[in-house]
Amino acid sequence: MMGKSHLIISTGVTLSVMSLLGHDITIPVIAVAGLSSLLPDIDEPNSLLVRKAIPEFLLRGLQIALIGAAIYFYFAGVAPSPWNIVLSLLVGSVSFLPGRRLRHLVMLLIALGLFAFGDAYDPWNYIAACVLAISALVPHRGLTHTLYGVVGWSALLYFSSLGMVDGDSLWIAGGMSYALHLLADSLTRHGITPLPPLPFKLRLKLMSTGTKKGGAVESLCIMLTLALVVYVFVLSS
Ligand SMILES: [Zn+2]
Repeated sequence: MMGKSHLIISTGVTLSVMSLLGHDITIPVIAVAGLSSLLPDIDEPNSLLVRKAIPEFLLRGLQIALIGAAIYFYFAGVAPSPWNIVLSLLVGSVSFLPGRRLRHLVMLLIALGLFAFGDAYDPWNYIAACVLAISALVPHRGLTHTLYGVVGWSALLYFSSLGMVDGDSLWIAGGMSYALHLLADSLTRHGITPLPPLPFKLRLKLMSTGTKKGGAVESLCIMLTLALVVYVFVLSS
């Protein structure tokens, strides 16, 4: 299923249900629900989140800067020989990592930085750092489409938002939106494997991406979501 459909369905249903349950729909709640609706697909190479995390031109610029730094470290005597050679080899070899590897390395470094120096934005720095670290470390089509993913993400939000005024709303919004993404994916031909290594697959085959029927079911889900949103936020308020 496409990211756009996930964004609409997961976020729309989550916010409607939460509003019906009496939670305040604040900007952070909307942001967490939206992010969580796309988060499971972070391990897809073409995922919106991963592609947007560090644009290609920035990576190229960084590569050139690193090569420059390697040359500088070699000649400028920053460290005594042979350490200048070691240092410049290290920096230089990082610059030759292919785009994906380099991207992951940079994401990990940013995550480390957020952990170490982002206290002022607690808990958002920890949440952002974990998202970056997870997307850099989780293998392709990895653990994100499992119940462990739902539990892990909910727990992360829960512990990050302990003590916040609307902390409960945050982890419920995130967990629900994430779970709805998996539910929507379980309707597709690919399905999900919720509890690996158990081979049990959740696959209802209602939506085969690319087919007419699949497209119709997807559109229907989006329309039902929009109807729910209108009902909750327009008609009954
Ligand atoms: Zn997915």
